Amino acid sequence: MNQQTLKKNLSDLPLGQIRFFESIGSTNDEALAWATAGAPDRSVVITDEQTQGRGRLDRKWFTPKGTALAFSLILRPSADLRPHLSRTVGLAALSIVDTLLKQGLSAQIKWPNDVLLNERKVAGILVESVWSEESVDSVVIGMGLNIMKDAVPPFHLLKFPAISIEDALGKAPDREKLLHNVLAAFLARLPQIGSDELIKEWEEKLAFRGEQVQVVNELDRNVKEATMNTITGELLGLQQDGSLRLRSEHGNLVTVHFGDISLRPSADTI
Ligand code: ADP
Repeated sequence: MNQQTLKKNLSDLPLGQIRFFESIGSTNDEALAWATAGAPDRSVVITDEQTQGRGRLDRKWFTPKGTALAFSLILRPSADLRPHLSRTVGLAALSIVDTLLKQGLSAQIKWPNDVLLNERKVAGILVESVWSEESVDSVVIGMGLNIMKDAVPPFHLLKFPAISIEDALGKAPDREKLLHNVLAAFLARLPQIGSDELIKEWEEKLAFRGEQVQVVNELDRNVKEATMNTITGELLGLQQDGSLRLRSEHGNLVTVHFGDISLRPSADTI
């Protein structure tokens, strides 16, 4: 992977500028700084290795050199897009699902921000925003995909099992082609971000739908009342803004909003 081959490989897509790094702390950090400094809409930061890759709540996201895909797309939302920004994470997840389907792999979305193959995490998404006074100036959509076996972190470091595309496919796919396909799928879906169809497709791909799950508010995990912030219930689907609909164990309908939430199947196997 290098700047020249990437540019060539992505030249048919309506992107802004492209910046490639052999190694970087975090593509989201670079993209946030670039967005603040005026990056054109749809610019992309790509790296071959992240040394400080982040998940939510500053958890670590592993991106060992030459084994994964890690990139961040910068969007400068148009007026049409602004009301639907909470759906961006679902759009990104569906773009990864589309891409894996082209490889013959059927993936699912672990709400809110992970993609699973065989109930193991193959990709993660981290959406962050740059604010200008009261409104969002730009949105950075970071995606990390485990391509080769060596991208998968050691088991003891994980709270949820992980997998690579190579593990699932029996061979490693071409990273640049995959990058092209994820970005192409994202851009193709973007005009439909406000549609009911998007929510329907996102719902259809949800992992554990119809099953019992637990959602835990991670911020409160160490607080005494933590149990008050764990909800067990049946995963029903999504609200219009992409938040999660559950039927609690007491029979109430509950909406779980985006936030520092972790979702697990109720019969957790790890
Ligand atoms: P959650 O699983 O609670 O939704 P995040 O979406 O914030 O967590 O992702 C961060 C977590 O993902 C890390 O704490 C780590 O357990 C796990 N992780 C880190 N790197 C990878 C990777 N390359 N593949 C799969 N899981 C990873």
